[in-house]
Amino acid sequence: MSYSVVWFKRDLRLNDHAALTQALAHGPVLCLYIVEPSLWRSADAATQHFHFLLESLRDLYLEFKRRGGRLHVVCGEAVEVLDKLYALQPFHTLHSHQETGNALSYTRDRNVAHWCRTHAIPWRQSQHFGVTRGLKNRDLWKDLWDQYVGQPCLPAPATIPCMALPWTEPALPTAADLGLDRAEPTQRQRGGRTLAQQVLDSFLNDRSQQYRGGISSPLSAPTACSRLSAYLTFGCLSLREVVQATTLQLKALSPAHAWHKKGLTAFVSRLYWHCHFIQKLESEPEIEFQNMHRGYDGFRENDWNPAHFEALKAGKTGWPMVDACVEMLRETGWLNFRMRAMLVSTAAYPLWLDWRPVGHWLARQFLDYEPGIHWSQLQMQSGTTGINIPRIYNPIKQAQDHDPNGIFVRRWLPAMRRVPDTWLLEPWKMPHSLQVQHNVYVGQDLGLPVVELEASTRTAKQKLYALRGQPQVRAAKREVVQKHGSRKRVTTSKQKPVSAPASQQQTLDF
Ligand SMILES: Cc1cc2nc3c(=O)[nH]c(=O)nc-3n(C[C@H](O)[C@H](O)[C@H](O)COP(=O)(O)OP(=O)(O)OC[C@H]3O[C@@H](n4cnc5c(N)ncnc54)[C@H](O)[C@@H]3O)c2cc1C
Repeated sequence: MSYSVVWFKRDLRLNDHAALTQALAHGPVLCLYIVEPSLWRSADAATQHFHFLLESLRDLYLEFKRRGGRLHVVCGEAVEVLDKLYALQPFHTLHSHQETGNALSYTRDRNVAHWCRTHAIPWRQSQHFGVTRGLKNRDLWKDLWDQYVGQPCLPAPATIPCMALPWTEPALPTAADLGLDRAEPTQRQRGGRTLAQQVLDSFLNDRSQQYRGGISSPLSAPTACSRLSAYLTFGCLSLREVVQATTLQLKALSPAHAWHKKGLTAFVSRLYWHCHFIQKLESEPEIEFQNMHRGYDGFRENDWNPAHFEALKAGKTGWPMVDACVEMLRETGWLNFRMRAMLVSTAAYPLWLDWRPVGHWLARQFLDYEPGIHWSQLQMQSGTTGINIPRIYNPIKQAQDHDPNGIFVRRWLPAMRRVPDTWLLEPWKMPHSLQVQHNVYVGQDLGLPVVELEASTRTAKQKLYALRGQPQVRAAKREVVQKHGSRKRVTTSKQKPVSAPASQQQTLDF
């Protein structure tokens, strides 16, 4: 029987699933998710990602079942699986969403494309997110994003006529079989569309009232933020449906709810950033490995300090706010934007660590790891994009501003509970007599900072500004802005939106 294959990737839902909808218009389908061992061996893969995936697949499987269909989850390399399937039961078309993933999934996609060409199988890839494949001109991007999110969401099919797999698949591998580490955050979010919808509803109807004013402090952020990132990364929700649900909610709120409306508007701008950042990796996959601005090559790479990296990963830098964030991440798999930025900035400036190994470590820590956002942000917070004004977060000031009473650091660092309020920000400076009185000792219960913060940050800034000031580095900036910079739309006297001048663009990401 003639049929097409729908290859599910990071789009684990039936609603607003363009690839499935297209395929069903041409007859029966065989729906496939492929667990690819080579991808799970990657330095950015973690057990929490695998378990979240399995939870999401389980939910999707039940959705299929309710519609008389079936999702097949198989283990193997994509080309080998497709080849075996084609040999046993030839299909006429392959459907999937476009994927902007890491270098491994990119190479895998090129191999699949080659296989399809060799077998004269058309591979129809539908647009995913508001990301444009083959984008020629960044100036057009905002309009393309608007168009994409404005199109109606596709309903989930009422029934799904499905083909069966022509073999019996053995049990799926475990995380350990795939070579993944055993440890995972005990308090991480769980996968699946059912939970994703609950999180979206609770955010739009209630929690988003705290979005404005609540997203910066790690105390309020876990509830004030939407917490949708992992569900977007795994595609349990489509970006478009989240944008449209938010727009509806915005329309439903009366002007009396101005604060709430401002929060929801700010949230929609983050959804725009989501795609804006993924577009960078889509347009230039090399930024996973190479400095976005090549003038920064050699900037930190040759000064790698393993002791600094180990202290950071172990949550033993000595700066309570940094160490508490590392602990929270280990337990929950999530941190708010500001604390992520502070972690990377601390790694990049006072600890002077290259963004690549830090990025791989954090990719495994973040449940919502999305390569396009992640690597762009790693570079941005490390100052290697060359187009963003460097933001250097001082962890002591962050504690002062966002955890003045030490509630956060005491939650995650038990020894801090014995430190009196006066010494919360710089506990290593506590006089010995007080250490004895409170039974909390520097060098034993509390770490000494790995470097002197002020001096090391000053040195880092000097190096950065010396490089930024070099004529050839300044000259090469324009090209990066042209390719990746955000375009603020300004209005001319004729009311025609145009891109902001390059000098303004660099500040517009945040
Ligand atoms: C170093 C670093 C690495 C990051 N890595 C990732 C990552 O791998 N995956 C990821 O989804 N986000 C990443 N972010 C962005 C941001 O921190 C998270 O999206 C956010 O904390 C997720 O929580 P939320 O869904 O509650 O966010 P909300 O504030 O509710 O935002 C809603 C959605 O908008 C998008 N978004 C929010 N902030 C940003 C941003 N600054 N840039 C791009 N998109 C954004 C996300 O999809 C998010 O789910 C990173 C930020 C930094 C500084």
